[in-house]
Amino acid sequence: MRNSQGPKKMELTRCMREDPAAGCSWCGALSADHQPVYVLVGISDETSLAAYPGAFVEYPVPGARRTVPAYVRPADSPGLEGARTDYNLLFVSCTAECANALSRALEADENAVSIEQWSGKATEGAGVPRPEGRSSRSIAPSSDGRYIILRIVGDYTRQRAMMNNIQAHALGRELGIKRYLVDMTESRNVESVLANYEFAKKEIWNAPEIDTTAVVAIVVSPDDHSHDFIETVARNAGLQVTIFRDRARAEEHLSAGGEGAD
Ligand SMILES: [Zn+2]
Repeated sequence: MRNSQGPKKMELTRCMREDPAAGCSWCGALSADHQPVYVLVGISDETSLAAYPGAFVEYPVPGARRTVPAYVRPADSPGLEGARTDYNLLFVSCTAECANALSRALEADENAVSIEQWSGKATEGAGVPRPEGRSSRSIAPSSDGRYIILRIVGDYTRQRAMMNNIQAHALGRELGIKRYLVDMTESRNVESVLANYEFAKKEIWNAPEIDTTAVVAIVVSPDDHSHDFIETVARNAGLQVTIFRDRARAEEHLSAGGEGAD
């Protein structure tokens, strides 16, 4: 984990989300049915962490080429029962699968001197964020095989968007499908304007897993305007993304091939 040059100084920023604990650090989802798995990490560069005790930061994970929300353990926190005591960063993951993927990605981080997974019931005051809320996603091809349907339930964040897009596009690539229907009728975009801008303008384009030539129809509920901004930024950036408030029209749009499609 460490190399001969020693750890690098990190650039940390405060997490923009109001309640990052509402979602898995890795995939963004957090089902109420699952007991979360915590990934406890000892970071050698404490100087930058010290500015954010008890807060969430965007932690850069080199192995994943993105940042994920991490909780900075305050120095006076009693910690988790039975866990090692030298961790100063905590990640919430929805399942052991996500905890393993996150742990593997963190192994490439030279600042991470210890990585441990912990699951159990966190006691009050242990400085562990309590995950709440309902959140899920499903990805499947449409019955006629013309497009991929991605259905999201729960608050939508940048982390979820990236992970879900990568998963949906992996299936699209496998099946040779370049059209996507994203059902967000039960999901609201909770990111800041800046985070949405960064996502549509930069992050999408830096992710080779995502097909930027895809035709995307997003279905939202009629009164939800939380996704409007990202549609505008995405379209200005050259993505073929269109919001619909009526599912039948979105399906028509995709079946017709969408704008600029083959
Ligand atoms: Zn997860």
